[in-house]
Amino acid sequence: MMRQYELVERVQAYNPNADENLLNRAYVYAMQKHGTQKRASGDPYFAHPLEVAAILTDLKLDDATIAVALLHDTIEDTDATRAEIDQLFGSEIGEIVDGLTKIERLQLVTREEAQAENLRKLLLAISADIRVLLVKLADRLHNMRTLDFMPPEKQMRIAEETMDIYAPLAGRMGMQDMRSELENLAFKTLQPDHYKAITDRLSEMQAEFKETIDGITVELGKKLKHEGIDARVSSRVKSAWSIATKIDRKQIALEQLSDMIGFRIIVPTLSDCYRALGIVHTNWKVVPGRFKDYISVPKHNDYRSIHTTIVGLGRQRIELQIRTEEMHKIAEYGIAAHAAYKEGATGDLHKLADESQAKAWLSSASLCRSPVAPSL
Ligand code: MN
Repeated sequence: MMRQYELVERVQAYNPNADENLLNRAYVYAMQKHGTQKRASGDPYFAHPLEVAAILTDLKLDDATIAVALLHDTIEDTDATRAEIDQLFGSEIGEIVDGLTKIERLQLVTREEAQAENLRKLLLAISADIRVLLVKLADRLHNMRTLDFMPPEKQMRIAEETMDIYAPLAGRMGMQDMRSELENLAFKTLQPDHYKAITDRLSEMQAEFKETIDGITVELGKKLKHEGIDARVSSRVKSAWSIATKIDRKQIALEQLSDMIGFRIIVPTLSDCYRALGIVHTNWKVVPGRFKDYISVPKHNDYRSIHTTIVGLGRQRIELQIRTEEMHKIAEYGIAAHAAYKEGATGDLHKLADESQAKAWLSSASLCRSPVAPSL
């Protein structure tokens, strides 16, 4: 379990002005309140809020959000009250913890009309302060990571809710890392055989094409360097869930799916993106119809990147994303990457444009279950 000073150090690493006293008090308070409570895994309960806080330090969120993460289950699961939290930590923190407590009690995936009402309540809690959603997503992520210890029926319910509500919501907030991990964990629980078939194939391919992948990475890096661009080139295997949906959409067999590996070029400036694109397109054959410029026309969730597909030496298709470091941060962390949630930003969190996206998504959220990819 992470020690008190380790958590404080993690926050101070990205925010030297963090309120150390606040973090220490929240740590001690939550630890004492949860006392000897245990999680289903047998771990001390306090390990959970602590892990949630750790996830949020990876997103470099402000000290109030980290304190909320530590406190998020105290009203729900201990004798702590809203009044006490307000008194000890201020009403701003009290209100967010209260919002999280209310969400905890909602059943979001039901076939009854109660679902519409519950989605409305979720929206209301998020509208009050978007940090409610950020802590909730981190809470859900940790619960999904430790889902194996739950009874099977509860596992299915939580996984469904994650797939139907929280993963799309993370996506709508531009938090691709979060979305992808939530989807894959839910996929694994809901369709274990399908999940295994895809992940097995992915690791097979990775081993099979290791040399090719390394070769392309080196070659791209060399060509860009030769033209004076200081680029970072990396490769990644696509997520199991994104492959499952692709197979479903294209109605093809897993064996036919060729582009399971994507490459990414990260460059210093915006104009470097277009220079890098020029270099790629003059050196390799382009697959027609695959070029997309999300820098010139960003996606709704602020995602910016150039996408293109080229033909490699062995005639294999290579998907490429080109972006700057800043675009990369926003692509992975979305709303959490925005400066408004960092220390020193204005406290005016209520008027952020991104919140309206959360509201738009929630108010349009379908009442029927979204389709799950069919088994292979
Ligand atoms: Mn929790």
